[in-house]
Amino acid sequence: MSNLISFHYGNVPDLVMNNGLTAVFIDTLCITGGIIAASDAEKEILVRLAGQDASIFGDGFTGFEIGELFEGLDNRIVSEFLMRVAASALSGVGFEKLPYAPDTSLLSAALNQFSLMLVSYGSSEMRNPSEWSGLAGSTYVKCPIHGIYLHSLGCVVCNNQ
Ligand SMILES: [Zn+2]
Repeated sequence: MSNLISFHYGNVPDLVMNNGLTAVFIDTLCITGGIIAASDAEKEILVRLAGQDASIFGDGFTGFEIGELFEGLDNRIVSEFLMRVAASALSGVGFEKLPYAPDTSLLSAALNQFSLMLVSYGSSEMRNPSEWSGLAGSTYVKCPIHGIYLHSLGCVVCNNQ
């Protein structure tokens, strides 16, 4: 089963990964991002990314569109933050919290392509984002074990165990 991560604003090929690599890709971005996110917008991006958790889609999971992570947010903040997270993930930041050792060669190739997709977007013009004011009084909660921002169904790493 292959998953396709597409980006309709970019001009680079879609990222194609099998289920195992997709799970590692999401886990590592969420775990690294949980360490470096500072603003509510950055935490919101991680919650959206975590919502792509393969476990909630089961075997029918077929990927996602990166543009969904941008909805209503400042495009530059999203692309800049995701590129920073990908760069940190390439360095293995936070990986000691993972319950497994990821195959870093496959993961690095995926993270590099993800970064290329974001670069192609970051250099394009702003696309009039709709206003995002955050959820009133929302707080972002982290998994106490993995330091990952929880989405509506919990922690991506805990859910896959
Ligand atoms: Zn967890």
